[in-house]
Amino acid sequence: MLKEKENIGFKGGFNLLDTHPLRFCNIIERISSDGIPEVFKFRVPDQKIQHVIVNLCPTEPWALPNWVILEHKTAAFLNKLKEIKTRYFPEAKCYIAINKKEDEPVSAVKDYACNAEWMKVFAVDAKYPQDDPVILSKVVLDIEMDFGQDTTTQGVLILDAQTVLAIYENCMLGNKVDSRFIALSGTGLKENEIINVQLGTSLEKILRNRIKESGKYRVFVNGPLHGREITDLSQKMDWSINNVVVLEELDQKVMFPMFKSDELVLTTNMLGELRRCVYCNFCDDICPVDLEPALYYHSYKRGEKHKARLYNLAKCIECGLCSFICPSKLELLQIIKECKALDKQK
Ligand code: SF4
Ligand code: SF4
Repeated sequence: MLKEKENIGFKGGFNLLDTHPLRFCNIIERISSDGIPEVFKFRVPDQKIQHVIVNLCPTEPWALPNWVILEHKTAAFLNKLKEIKTRYFPEAKCYIAINKKEDEPVSAVKDYACNAEWMKVFAVDAKYPQDDPVILSKVVLDIEMDFGQDTTTQGVLILDAQTVLAIYENCMLGNKVDSRFIALSGTGLKENEIINVQLGTSLEKILRNRIKESGKYRVFVNGPLHGREITDLSQKMDWSINNVVVLEELDQKVMFPMFKSDELVLTTNMLGELRRCVYCNFCDDICPVDLEPALYYHSYKRGEKHKARLYNLAKCIECGLCSFICPSKLELLQIIKECKALDKQK
C-alpha cells in the first residue's frame, strides 16, 4: 500500500549528501580473509516484532550507497523482503524509508507498494541523522526510543538493505554468507571504493596499498561523526561495519569551516590550538534532538561535568553534528561522552 509521507523531517540535522557528495569507483574488488571467514547469523528476536523498518536512506556520503545492494532490481529486493516477512514476522507491518531524491528506486518502490498491503513507503529527506534508530522510529512510527536502546524491546526491528539480502541468502536459500560490501573513502586514500570483504579480514589487509603514502592519517569505522576511531589495524571486519573512512590528519584547526564546504567535510583533528566557545549557537541549531550542546561544554570547562546531566544529556544520540559544525572545533561529542560516563562510574 502506498502511504507515502513527504516532507517528514526533524529539527536540526544536516544534509551531508548534498554538501559533500562522494563518488565511488564502481569496480568492486573482493578481498578474502587469511583465516577461516566468520559467517553471518540471523537471530530472530525474542520479542514479538510488530514493525519492520527497512532503511534505504543512508544519510552519510561515506556510507554504503543503495545502488550496491539494489543493483537496479528494487522489485526483486522487495520480493525477498516479502518472503522474509511472511516466514518470520507474519503479523508485522513493513515500512520502507527511502531517500526521496533517489528517483529510480523511489519510483520502483512506489510502483510495488500500489499492490502491496503489507508495506508502507516513507520517502524522506536524507538529512543526517535521519537514519539513526531514535529518529527513524520517531519519524516512521512516532515511537520514542532511548539512545542505545535495543529497538526490538519495543517491537521494532530495523534492517538495512544488506542485512535483508543476507537473511534471504542464509535463511531462505540456505547459503552461507561470509562476506559483505563495505565503502572505503576519505582524504587519506588513493581513491574511494566499494569492496566485498570476507568477515574476519583485518583492516590492515584491507587498507594495504590503498592509503596515500605521505602524511599521517586517522581511520574510522562507520563514519567520522558517530563511528569509532581505530588505532589497532589488526581489528577484524564484522557484520556491523558498513564503511571505513581514512582521513589525512590536520595539525591545525580550520577557522569557520562552515564557510568553506570543502574544509567542513571532516575537520576531525584533535590537534591544534585551543579555542573558545563564541556563543554562535550553531550547535543548538543543528542538534537533531533539540539539545544545547554548548551547555555541556560550559559545564565541563567549569569542572562541573555532573551539571551537564541537568540539560537532558541522556537524550543525546551521539551523532557528532555539534562537533562537526562548531566554528571553534570544540570536541563537543567527546565532552558529552565523558559527562555521560559519570553515570556508568557510579
Ligand atoms: S552529538 Fe548529541 S548534542 Fe551533539 S548534535 Fe548530536 S544529539 Fe545533539
Ligand atoms: S557551535 Fe561551538 S562556538 Fe558555537 S555555541 Fe556551540 S560550542 Fe560554542
